[in-house]
Parts: sequence; C-alpha cells; structure tokens
Amino acid sequence: MAFESLSDRLQATMKKIRGRGKVSENDVKQMMREIRLALLEADVNFKVVKTFIKKVQERAVGQEIMKSLTPGQQIIKVVQEELTELMGGEQTKLNFSLKPPTVLLFVGLQGAGKTTSAAKLANHIRKNNNKKPLMIAADIYRPAAIKQLQTLGSQLNIPVFSLGDQVNPVDIVRQGMDQARADHNDLVIIDTAGRLHIDEGLMNELEQIKEVSHPDEVFLVVDAMTGQDAVNVARAFNDRLDITGVIMTKLDGDTRGGAALSIRSVTGKPIKFVGMGEKMDALEPFHPDRMASRILG
Ligand code: GDP
Repeated sequence: MAFESLSDRLQATMKKIRGRGKVSENDVKQMMREIRLALLEADVNFKVVKTFIKKVQERAVGQEIMKSLTPGQQIIKVVQEELTELMGGEQTKLNFSLKPPTVLLFVGLQGAGKTTSAAKLANHIRKNNNKKPLMIAADIYRPAAIKQLQTLGSQLNIPVFSLGDQVNPVDIVRQGMDQARADHNDLVIIDTAGRLHIDEGLMNELEQIKEVSHPDEVFLVVDAMTGQDAVNVARAFNDRLDITGVIMTKLDGDTRGGAALSIRSVTGKPIKFVGMGEKMDALEPFHPDRMASRILG
C-alpha cells in the first residue's frame, strides 16, 4: 500500500507525544531525530529532509505551541501542514485551453506508465470535464506501444490517431493535430516514446513535438517505485522541456514514498495525478493535504 512503511514509522513517533500536556525542547529534538530517520529511510532526498526538519523544528518549539494546552496535538498539526506544503500545498488543477483543443503531452522513460496513464487520463477528463478526446500514438520505438494504445482506446471507446511506426513522430503529431481539429476533438493527448535512459535523441524529438503541438500541459510520467531515480529523471526532463506537472504511477506499490515527497521541492513542479493500479479507473487527482493526513493516520 502507498506510503505504508513511512506511515507506520511516523505514526509511532506521533503517538508518543499525541496526548502530552507538556512537551520539552528535548522531546521535540528526539521527535525530529525520529522523523528525520523515517524520511531518509523512505528515500526522501536528503536536502529536502534537512529543510523540512528545520522548518518543523522552528515552528514546533515556538512559544505559542509549547505553552498551549495540547502541545502534542499542535506539533502534530505542524508536521501535517509542512508535509502538505512539501507535496505542493494546494491541489493544482488541469490547465484547459481557452481555444480548443486542449493539448496534453505525455513524456517519460520507457515503462514508467505513459501509455497506460494517457488512456486513463483521457477517460478521466472525458468523464469529469465532458470533453471529446483524441489520442495520438507517437511512440514508434517501443514494440507494441501503438497497438497497446489502440487496444486501450477501443476498450474505452476513445479514437486513436496513428500512422504506424515508419513515419517520423513529429509528422505524426502534426497530422494528428490536424485530424483533431477536423473532427472537433477538444482534447488531444499525445503519447510519446520513452527510452530506457535519458538521451539527446529523445530530448530533441520531444522538443520538436512540443514545438508543433503547443501543449497546454507537459506531463512527465514517473514510476514512484524508482524513488530518487524518478526525482533525477524529473529534474532532467524539466530542464529541457519545462514540464508543467508530474503524473506519478504505481503509488499503489510504493510503501516508501520518497519520490512523491521529494519531487515538488526538487523540480518546483507539482504532482497532478497519481496512478493507483493497472485498471483504467485507477488514476486520481493528487491532493497533498489528503495524502499528508493519510500518511499521519
Ligand atoms: P510506458 O512504456 O511508459 O508507456 O509504460 P506502460 O503504460 O506500458 O506501463 C508499464 C507497466 O506499468 C504496465 O504493465 C502497466 O500496467 C503498469 N502500470 C502503469 N501505471 C500503473 C499504476 O499506477 N499502478 C500499477 N500497479 N501498475 C501500473
């Protein structure tokens, strides 16, 4: 389950001070040590941990809190607020274009869950925002990627634009955009190729696709289970493509949560959706406050 081991650790720490009528500075210090260890073990970026602990500590030893009737509760509230902040604070909404179609460009490494998430999000937006989507299959390198998107498209009854795997992806996207305008699709979702590692060829291609499609959102899809690798990948993609948000997949299998807790601080870009399973309805908008409450129990 998502964040399970981090959650267990933090909850055990919180339990010790929850009902306390009096908390000393030493108690706070001890608690901070435990939180710090729990976050590091959850594979949260060490700089992120350091800043987080400093902020919580400063607030927690504040006069008002230490002298309040329920200092234990107040400190837990501070931890919860700072965890929410760490994951981006407010939930961030999708950016729809005033001039249709709204274009969402999906990028990421192979296996991160791009194709699956593209179909999930097309389905989600169609249902919740009443849009008429077209998906463009521009991953011509991974064997079976086009077929996979077509299969998901026909399952969901969402059209897929494809020109096979012998046409340049930039041309595919250009023609797909024309098709969307001709068919009055007000939402276009572009599934691009990934590689096993970041390379110059991939980045060049994605830059060109971005140029011809003028996306309203550039979503980087990362696999939560890869921890700090996901964070490094995000930094690299953001440097080249100025992503607008992250879709974090496989959170259902990520008991640690290091990527989810680090990526916003490191890249400055929010997580907008999380994948919670393989099924087509297992995609949720990301709410930092709800996630923080869930972690702290
Ligand atoms: P792509 O290469 O980036 O297009 O990756 P795919 O969309 O093919 O996904 C790779 C694998 O991850 C597939 O087996 C998906 O079913 C699986 N997957 C994607 N998202 C999730 C998720 O949120 N949870 C789980 N458990 N599996 C996922």
